[in-house]
Amino acid sequence: MESIKWTKAYVAPTYSRTEITIEKGEGYVVFDDTGKRYLDFTAGIGVNSLGYQHPEWVAATQNQLSQLQHISNLYYTHPSAQLAQKLCTRTGMANVLFVNSGAEANEVAIKVARKYGHQKHPDKHKILTLNNSFHGRTVTTLSATGQDVFHKYFDPFTKGFDYVQTNDIADLLDKVDDTVCAIMIEMVQGEGGVIPLETEFIEAVSTASIQHDCLLIIDEVQTGIGRTGKLYAYEHYNLKPDIVTSAKGLGNGLPIGAALLGEKVKDVLEPGDHGSTFGGNPVVSAGANVVLDTLTDEFLDQVTKKGDQLKAQLLAVEGVQSVSGLGLMIGVTFDSYTAKEVVEQAKDAGILFLTAKEKLRLLPPLIIDEQAIEEAVSCINHIMNTKVGVS
Ligand SMILES: *Cc1c(COP(=O)(O)O)cnc(C)c1O
Repeated sequence: MESIKWTKAYVAPTYSRTEITIEKGEGYVVFDDTGKRYLDFTAGIGVNSLGYQHPEWVAATQNQLSQLQHISNLYYTHPSAQLAQKLCTRTGMANVLFVNSGAEANEVAIKVARKYGHQKHPDKHKILTLNNSFHGRTVTTLSATGQDVFHKYFDPFTKGFDYVQTNDIADLLDKVDDTVCAIMIEMVQGEGGVIPLETEFIEAVSTASIQHDCLLIIDEVQTGIGRTGKLYAYEHYNLKPDIVTSAKGLGNGLPIGAALLGEKVKDVLEPGDHGSTFGGNPVVSAGANVVLDTLTDEFLDQVTKKGDQLKAQLLAVEGVQSVSGLGLMIGVTFDSYTAKEVVEQAKDAGILFLTAKEKLRLLPPLIIDEQAIEEAVSCINHIMNTKVGVS
């Protein structure tokens, strides 16, 4: 109880929180301070990819803690070197810059794009993003975010962004020209309501980026690290991104962000152009190495399979109106229920879900199993039935 009281008294009120204090996690369940068990379909908003107390991840981070917790980027360390090598080998990207969050990874992408553009032509600095996108909470990533609700209170915002209607090829072609240095997209808009981009639109973005020599930036902060059944969601399509940003699931709960840079831009940033005190932290990196090692092809196939199962079972529930998403990133709407109502009732029944815009959003740890899927679907089924009974 104290934690709720003190948080309300002493923590700045920027979040609307649920009145639960989480004390412990195990696999895909968490426990509150009264010992109540919750099935976790939030994974800390897509972060705890391997769930809680994953043995190898715990061992790797604890072992690294007992060796070296931090040293500046004026020196080398094993864990971040290994992590960079793994990320590049698995994606074919050329090099990586480590930071601490998704917004910071996008800041790196934006800085690289601006410098790349300026090297081509002094006027080449416009960045196109999509309507309904979400790219972070720093002033510049808020500017990149294509939603008016985020463009208030903090002006003047960073200039040089324009917004393309999502999945609207005509609007894209209208707005792209040689002053554009980058187009930045999410393969599935997460915060925007679990909305996947259409294949034709993705192809048009890729073609436009080549025609106008602008960088293709893919924000994989939420979609990356196995969430959609591939290491990165762009791998579902025939795409060659210039920059991929990664964060949430990469650290399995410890803060990390990474901007993966392709051949074309690997040397754009030079010494002094960017930096981060904590970037590439050895403890975080040691854990992230375990995350990548765990995400084998077989593991990723299982994510796809579990995602398909979950989607099919949800669609079969009477009262479910639509199911969207890829892999274990799923959005659901209901005939006669708001997502908020479902979250509230499911919480009482012992399952944690998220919302995204009007949708119920499911982002379980990637290690969930059939039993967890059945428990979640049967809970939603039960909620739907209760409503039918009432009306
Ligand atoms: C969460 C998110 C971000 C911001 O990440 P932070 O770590 O909160 O800064 C950026 N882009 C996308 C697509 C996200 O889902």
